Amino acid sequence: MTTLPDRGTAWPQLKTEMERRGSGDAKWREGKTAVYVFNAGADVLKVQKEAYTMYMSENGLGPAAFPSLRQMEEEVVGMGLELLHGGELATGNITSGGTDSITMAVKAARDYKLSSNTELNDSKLNIIAPWSVHPAFDKAATMMDLELRRIPVKADLLADVSAMSSAIDQNTMMLVGSAPSFPYGLIDPIAELSVVALDQDIWLHVDACVGGYIAPFVRMNGVDIAPFDFELEGVSSMSADLHKYGYCAKGASTVLFRDKTLQAHMIFDCDDWPGGRMVTPTLAGTRPGGAISAAWAVMNFLGKEGYCTKHRQVTDARQAIETGVRELGFSILGEPQLGIVAFNHPELDAFALYKQMYRRGWFTGLTTEPRALHLMLSPFHAEVTATYLADLKSSADAVRAGDNDAVQEAKYS
Ligand SMILES: *Cc1c(COP(=O)(O)O)cnc(C)c1O
Repeated sequence: MTTLPDRGTAWPQLKTEMERRGSGDAKWREGKTAVYVFNAGADVLKVQKEAYTMYMSENGLGPAAFPSLRQMEEEVVGMGLELLHGGELATGNITSGGTDSITMAVKAARDYKLSSNTELNDSKLNIIAPWSVHPAFDKAATMMDLELRRIPVKADLLADVSAMSSAIDQNTMMLVGSAPSFPYGLIDPIAELSVVALDQDIWLHVDACVGGYIAPFVRMNGVDIAPFDFELEGVSSMSADLHKYGYCAKGASTVLFRDKTLQAHMIFDCDDWPGGRMVTPTLAGTRPGGAISAAWAVMNFLGKEGYCTKHRQVTDARQAIETGVRELGFSILGEPQLGIVAFNHPELDAFALYKQMYRRGWFTGLTTEPRALHLMLSPFHAEVTATYLADLKSSADAVRAGDNDAVQEAKYS
């Protein structure tokens, strides 16, 4: 086990050692990683880094001490709400990431349910979601002792609204749809879920972690994207990650509510200890100022025009990949409209292809049902689609020639 060194080491030496360690990591700077990292280019990276370090020591836990951070958080939330059709009463907060946003929305929905006068049965409160929702919901359900009912998706890989509807009972505290789901990159029929939510008076959460900061701009770029946000009356809350297609520094997401009375169920207010009253909107105590300031800076740096341009590169890259893989005999899962695409081949095992691509330096995703290759694309990928397709062709040739060694599980997706 490593122990703390007796004496310190000079920073230049440590820096060299850290660079050496990074040399074995996935080669995202070359565009060969299509999961975990969003590479929007050198211009955005520079703003992220400088804006992050400017407020790295400040703490979002203390809005009275740091009105700068409070103002930046309000403005970031305001920008998110405008994009996602939040009305006059809509509000939200910055969290540390999608899992945090989802956990807090679940907590708010649970407390809302418990505060209402509906009669409950003896079972746990439950959440009804399509099978494709992110494991953050399982994590939140486990932590809060709730039941997550994952309902099989339809043949088109979208939420089965009538099956979800049939699964509702008096203990149902939340319905979930994804915009889009992470595995397939497809937007669930949120409008239909909204109707059910209104009808049965159930909280609907739209998980737009990976879509919230790209879909509005893809729409501005002329793509016909069906309504999926607060524009739909039945949507009570949303999660939308700044550190994904918002191209902000990691550690930043937004959790958004249709109105303040719903958000009130999230906020924790504690007075029963000797340190004085502490009010925290999200799970965190200390909140990294850098994540907030970097988000504010990147959003203002890009503006609508910048996002439209960056996201156009993403969708161009996706279309180039779609055309190329179809020519190689693959089929696309559904009709993705945003930055995620998954595809498979009628004869070649995706897990074997994955291993071949991995050997060629690619670090990407996989889906398990059906087995498919999975890409979450960034603007930078527009420059490497030809390389990707050439490597995929040679990987397909290798698998066809009998080099069938496959990865054992989809642990990267
Ligand atoms: C990434 C993602 C999450 C979780 O976000 P983290 O920031 O990784 O915690 C939740 N839902 C969807 C659809 C996602 O893509």
